[in-house]
Amino acid sequence: MKYISLLGATGSIGTQTLELIREHPEQFQLTAISAGRNIGLVRKIISEFHPQLVSVQTKEDCTTLQEEFPTDIQFVYGEEGLVEAAVYDRSNIVLNAVIGSVGLYPTLQAIEAGKKIAIANKETLVTAGHLVMAAAREKNVDILPVDSEHSAIFQCLQGENMNEVSRLLITASGGSFRDLSREELKFVTLEQALNHPNWSMGSKITIDSATMMNKGLEVIEAHWLFDLPYDKIDVLLHRESIIHSLVEFHDSSVIAQLGTPDMRVPIQYALTYPERLPLQSAKRLNLVDIGQLHFEKMDMDRYRCLYFAYEAGRCGGTMPTVLNAANEAAVKAFLEQKIPFTRIEELIEKALERHHVIEHPDLSAIREVDQETRQYVHTLL
Ligand code: NDP
Ligand code: MG
Repeated sequence: MKYISLLGATGSIGTQTLELIREHPEQFQLTAISAGRNIGLVRKIISEFHPQLVSVQTKEDCTTLQEEFPTDIQFVYGEEGLVEAAVYDRSNIVLNAVIGSVGLYPTLQAIEAGKKIAIANKETLVTAGHLVMAAAREKNVDILPVDSEHSAIFQCLQGENMNEVSRLLITASGGSFRDLSREELKFVTLEQALNHPNWSMGSKITIDSATMMNKGLEVIEAHWLFDLPYDKIDVLLHRESIIHSLVEFHDSSVIAQLGTPDMRVPIQYALTYPERLPLQSAKRLNLVDIGQLHFEKMDMDRYRCLYFAYEAGRCGGTMPTVLNAANEAAVKAFLEQKIPFTRIEELIEKALERHHVIEHPDLSAIREVDQETRQYVHTLL
């Protein structure tokens, strides 16, 4: 039985995880959840799944829920609440599906508490991959990828020797604007940006897909998860999102993982690894119906954010923290319709250019740089 702490239960990954728990009540039990501000959905989750600990973002929402559910459920809030959900003693696995670097501290605390980590929250690994992976090694804790590309790579690597890997190939659908030129990008709207051709996801990651920063974050995420240098991590444009990623070995053999685009598959694999559970509701892959798959070289001039991510990743230290924080702040401003789409990459570039990198930053240095970068981006709005 997996006793699950689900961080970000009200989000896109969170609600798909709930579908899996609903489909396999004999395998999964929801013990603790965290949410942000979507209290309406929290009420429904409590009524259906009866988690024993519930964390929300604000004290007011916490008090409201406490009054509504006079049961033995423990209600907590804020960053402390998020940590309490992550380290809850009745949970043996934490699925981290919050958005943004707010996921970092609870992840570190969950590792400290010896929980298995299923990680969807890529910003955590981007902002402080060295701290997370070192803590996991020290505590002998598994970090299991949820992101579909990393799950694909992880599945391709089962039974393989990492020393025999010559290259990872991460596929990218290209996002909402893959067929637009840089000139045309200047005039796109928020509504168009939120319309992803293949995947239905939360708004921040949908924008990240449109700027290609999502792929950049995934390159850095792959670097940490699989302990490979950036020279061995490539990105390939593949518009159908059927091949989720590939691994090339030094004898030139390539192994790929395929499937219809459905996040529940990698979420479930992370929860049940090394076993697989049936997933009756998933759509089967029919290659005859699909007929053709397409691949294109990734253009780093067209997708500036991917270029920035490789640069920041190679530089290391606090540079990926700046990349991530500037991106979070810029995407937030775009979602609030304060800036046009192309301003996102300009703000990130400015933040990266002015930063003096700190090598081997500890948690407090990371937090400081994260906050300072967000403030800097605000001054530019
Ligand atoms: P969503 O925006 O849909 O959900 C985010 C979740 O985090 C919600 O539960 C939200 O609560 C909660 N949250 C937001 N801010 C805070 C905060 N300050 N404190 C506590 N909780 C907070 O995101 P997604 O599910 O799309 O993405 C989650 C993570 O998974 C991201 O890192 C993303 O990059 C990654 N990912 C997502 C994929 C997808 O298909 N969606 C695919 C691969 C990776 P509320 O809504 O209640 O305010
Ligand atoms: Mg992905």
